Amino acid sequence: MPDHFIIQLIGLENKNIQLVDQSIEANTCHIHIQLKRKKHACPQCKTRTDRIKDYRIHMFQHLKTAEKPIIIHYRKRRYICPCGKSFDEKNQGIVQPYQRFSVSWHQAALLHSITSPSFTYTAKAFGTSTSKVIRLFDARTTPFIIPPSQLPKIIAIDEFKGDTDKGKFQLIIADPITRRPIDILENRSMKTIQQYLRERGQQVEMVTMDLSQAFKSAVQKALGKPVIIADSFHFSRYIYWALSKVRIRVQEQFHPYDRKRCKRIRGLLYKRKRALTPAEKIRIQHYLDLHPDLQTAYDIKEAYQAWFDTNKRK
Ligand SMILES: [Zn+2]
Repeated sequence: MPDHFIIQLIGLENKNIQLVDQSIEANTCHIHIQLKRKKHACPQCKTRTDRIKDYRIHMFQHLKTAEKPIIIHYRKRRYICPCGKSFDEKNQGIVQPYQRFSVSWHQAALLHSITSPSFTYTAKAFGTSTSKVIRLFDARTTPFIIPPSQLPKIIAIDEFKGDTDKGKFQLIIADPITRRPIDILENRSMKTIQQYLRERGQQVEMVTMDLSQAFKSAVQKALGKPVIIADSFHFSRYIYWALSKVRIRVQEQFHPYDRKRCKRIRGLLYKRKRALTPAEKIRIQHYLDLHPDLQTAYDIKEAYQAWFDTNKRK
């Protein structure tokens, strides 16, 4: 049935949806739907009724399909019970009352925002404002994540800046294999993380996370002895710090002129060698030649970056 195909194509699974009309205007799809008429229990007296009171159109944005924005025009039915009570039909997770975006849109945007480099980036991809994306983080009253009673063998822990009353930073527990969030903790206190891991972490064997010492010990206390892997972002920072330390130490022995100029190439040293221009390569090689330790530190940094890039590709 072609009507049903369109409904499936845009990812609405509900079998009670009927396609009323569809059109494409100015690269935007307009899909008009309604639900099958069905007996509903009155929220006041529990009498089952399918007496229709009226219809209202609820318009909302849905997930893009083939790069086209989709606007759904949902012809929302209201029933009226013999007792006088009128009420909206149940739509089983298509859209929440008064929302301008579908439930699946909310879920996808939230998941995207957790792994994307910025809220603005997500906002662009989903055709909305940055503040809307930020608000999604707060609106966790809609349970998009069902926390498992037991965590998987490998987990990732990271912090992000949330916006709740209970402390600015929150923790996200994610599955590094599927790159999906598992749970969000209200704050990043040691007590919170320990209690959480004690309850659900019996199967955890490996944790990738920030290298903060306090964190590490909290995780270790709660889980026994899991393997802790520094996550790549934080680990990179340590590599850069180490390189800087060597540079600062050896440039002390340079001629004051070279010392000053060596300070200025700090940024170039962090950059991947293959991303440097020929002139930049010559410039940093001059300083690497001035001290073997600097050359060694630089080679280690390059080796790490190469390793990191190959693993990222995998
Ligand atoms: Zn009633």
